[in-house]
Amino acid sequence: MALREVKKYPDTVLRKQAAPVDTIDDGVHAIIQDMFDTMEDEFGVGLAAPQIGISKRIITVSINEKGFEHLSLINPEIVHASKETAVSEEGCLSVPRINAEVERPRKVVVHGTTRNGSAVEIDASGLLARVLQHEIDHLNGVLFIDRLSEKEKKRTKPEIDDMTHRPSPSSR
Ligand SMILES: [Zn+2]
Repeated sequence: MALREVKKYPDTVLRKQAAPVDTIDDGVHAIIQDMFDTMEDEFGVGLAAPQIGISKRIITVSINEKGFEHLSLINPEIVHASKETAVSEEGCLSVPRINAEVERPRKVVVHGTTRNGSAVEIDASGLLARVLQHEIDHLNGVLFIDRLSEKEKKRTKPEIDDMTHRPSPSSR
């Protein structure tokens, strides 16, 4: 078991476009294991590799829904998003102490590869759809605070500004 440091906003690794994984080797399996360990230790429901400083297209999900308690996906991609949207509160291990409402498509279809190398298609709604979208955003350098309504942006601005101006522990 290896816990990794979770990178916090405004760490630049969180803003990078993550690289696709070409080969699912032992290195990738080790990253996935560390992601699960770190996510569970921090009580997260999802994690993306850039959050532990690895700019690769890997996500892990752990929600209380059959088949998705321990899901990892390599090179995940949203192939369809519903026009219908839903608003719900989100938080992020990389943006601690901030919770805000985010509007997203209610349903998505996601393609990806499992750690065993099989292609999967996930037809997601509810919390699963939200977590998958949040984590896939991380692979594209997008954070949930980028998706806030004007009202939510205004409300959270003081805390976000505070994080922007505070030196991150790694740069101390
Ligand atoms: Zn996040």
